Amino acid sequence: MHELSIVASLFEILEEKAKENKAKKIISVKLQVGSLSGVVPEFLETAFKIYKKDTVAADAKLTIEEVPLKIQCEKCGVEIIKNDFVFICEKCDSRELKTLAGTELLLEKIELEV
Ligand SMILES: [Zn+2]
Repeated sequence: MHELSIVASLFEILEEKAKENKAKKIISVKLQVGSLSGVVPEFLETAFKIYKKDTVAADAKLTIEEVPLKIQCEKCGVEIIKNDFVFICEKCDSRELKTLAGTELLLEKIELEV
């Protein structure tokens, strides 16, 4: 499970941040997960729950914000939010598209209790 290794490195960051700020514990963690990041939010949540036991984030609440796939046509410049993965411009049928958002996996916010 891909998500387990992501959570493992996430906890390395969390432990580090807690130490840096001399925090007693981590209250909440917010992640941004792009729909094209290859990460399944439910798996991420499950892995987080398993992993957080006996860590500084044992009581932490995990929030996952799903970022939809957003593309821009290089030809006509239109920006499209995609719900499917058909990479053709809806306006001019061009296949020259670039991804603006939706591939990210970001740690957006950590709330600490000092
Ligand atoms: Zn276009």
